[in-house]
Amino acid sequence: MEKTNYVLPKLSYGYKELEPHISEEQLKIHHQKHHQSYVNGANAIFENLEKARKDGIDLDMKSTLKALSFNIGGHILHSLFWDNLEPAGKGGGKPGGILGDAIAKEFGSLERFKKEFTQAAASVEGSGWAALTFQKQINRPIIMQIEKHNTNTYPNFEILMVLDVYEHAYYIDYKNERGKFIEAFWNIVNWDEVNKRLERLSK
Ligand code: MN
Repeated sequence: MEKTNYVLPKLSYGYKELEPHISEEQLKIHHQKHHQSYVNGANAIFENLEKARKDGIDLDMKSTLKALSFNIGGHILHSLFWDNLEPAGKGGGKPGGILGDAIAKEFGSLERFKKEFTQAAASVEGSGWAALTFQKQINRPIIMQIEKHNTNTYPNFEILMVLDVYEHAYYIDYKNERGKFIEAFWNIVNWDEVNKRLERLSK
C-alpha cells in the first residue's frame, strides 16, 4: 500500500445550495480556508516527522502529537459534516430506517433527541462540535460534545452525524447567534446519509 497525504474533499453540492441556511460566502470560506488549513496542518506535521526521522532529529513529541490530533480531528470532522448536510428542500424532516428506530428507542422521541443535541451544541465551551455517535458494544446512539476537534471524544465510537459550532462556521451569517445556526442546521441535515452510516455499521 502506498502512503498518501490528506486532501480536501469536494462538496457534493454547490456553494450556493445550502442557502438560506448557510450562505455561499460562509460555506466557501469554511470549506476552502478553514477545512483546508487542517488538511495542510496535518500534512505539514507528517512532513516534519519524516524530516526528523531522516535527519535523526528529536521532535517535541507532546506538542507534535497534540497538534496532529487537532488537525486530523479537524479534517475528519469537517469531512463528515459536509456529507451529513444537503440542500434546503431536500434535507431536514425526520430520520427513517434503523436510525429513526434507534433514536426513538434511546431518546423516546425525535423531539427529545433534537432538544438534547441542540443543548449539547449550544453549550460547547469555546469552539467545538456536537456529534451523534453509535456504540456497537451496547447498541446505543450517544451524543458526544467535542471541544476543539479532539477533546471529550469517546475512543473508537463511530460518528454518525456532526454539527460544527466553531464561530468560523456561522459568524458571517449569524454573527454571535449560535442558537440560530443550530436551528437552521435541522433544515439541511441529511438524515439519509446519517442512516446509511448506521446501516454500514450494523453490517
Ligand atoms: Mn469548521
